[in-house]
Amino acid sequence: MSLDTTTLYLVAAMVAAMLGAMLLFFGSQENIPALRWWGTAYLLGAASIALWTLAASSLGEMLSLASAVMTLSPEASAMRITIGAGIVALYAAVTAGELWSERRRTLQRRWPAIVVPALHGFVLMLPILVGGLLYPDQDKFSGSVWVTVFSVELVLYAVGTVFVIFMLVSERTVTAHKTAASMDPLTGMFNRRGFAEACSRVIEREATAGRPVTVLIFDIDHFKSINDRFGHAAGDEILKLFAANVINSLRISDLSGRIGGEEFAALLPCSLEDGVLAAERVRGAFADSGIVVEDGPVDTTVSIGVAGGPAGTELEVLLAAADTALYQAKRGGRNRVELAEELPLSLENWRRKAAGAARQPVQPAAVARLA
Ligand code: GH3
Ligand code: MG
Ligand code: MG
Repeated sequence: MSLDTTTLYLVAAMVAAMLGAMLLFFGSQENIPALRWWGTAYLLGAASIALWTLAASSLGEMLSLASAVMTLSPEASAMRITIGAGIVALYAAVTAGELWSERRRTLQRRWPAIVVPALHGFVLMLPILVGGLLYPDQDKFSGSVWVTVFSVELVLYAVGTVFVIFMLVSERTVTAHKTAASMDPLTGMFNRRGFAEACSRVIEREATAGRPVTVLIFDIDHFKSINDRFGHAAGDEILKLFAANVINSLRISDLSGRIGGEEFAALLPCSLEDGVLAAERVRGAFADSGIVVEDGPVDTTVSIGVAGGPAGTELEVLLAAADTALYQAKRGGRNRVELAEELPLSLENWRRKAAGAARQPVQPAAVARLA
């Protein structure tokens, strides 16, 4: 196979220019400076290749003079190629490393980010590895098949790299949207959806390890009255304060979220007893907040329901049990922690029991518990 190198270089220049323009446009649109730099580099590269290729025919004499300076002897030529390939291999490895670390958060589909630069480095190392065997006479290098291989590979690399960049950028955008959909903007905590998703992962992990989990439900006491007396904005501040309180009182491995207006929940990978201690910590800290406004002190108290379950108990079941306990804490006078009396049943059994209780009003105790 013989390909005209001049045509190949011109095609490479055009592809690089097109990709450069795309990167510049996309970088400006999404306001990502790195992409604008990248696009500029591609355009510069395209201009250099085009200039070199076109000028080579008209300025042949001058260029050969210039290359004569660079290639003082055949050994120097071999050395130059080795050093050049080594530099390219090094930056390909650095690029691969950068892309790899950028992908550390998402473990799937990471292979193009490493394969593209690695392949690039490998192809450019080939003449060093096998070139000596195939072409012992280094002087023939410039006319050898390597030039064709390199120019084709260069085009593929340019396209491949841009593909990887677009893939990473689009994934980052998707992640940002996903994060926004699972966060509560007021408190910066998980919202109900984000909390449930995060919990299912922790529950699965703890179940595999055979460890129990405990769920806490918090409901701020007389919150409507806080809003009524001090205004909605003050109410929002109290919500933020409570959120900070929960996060500070719990461990880093505990999950928490705002699951309703003034209702919060937490999932702790610990026993029921330790869960109750944590709940008491939150309750005490919130009661001691010492918020004072012009009209006087604001009563900041919270009622908490706690429910624990064996490894693998579904979140819905734990939440339902904790909610029942919370109801008891409210009835018992608020500003207190109550524990779910019985171990929550599996979701299936709980539904069956709830349906059975509804059909048989002769069991008042069961109805009261499930109401
Ligand atoms: P209890 O002690 O029984 O829990 O009484 P409560 O007043 O806290 O409970 P209730 O459910 O009657 O009232 C909850 C109030 O929370 C009503 C609602 O206006 C307020 N609320 C819900 N979301 C927000 C919010 O985002 N900001 C503010 N400021 N108030 C909110
Ligand atoms: Mg409420
Ligand atoms: Mg309340």
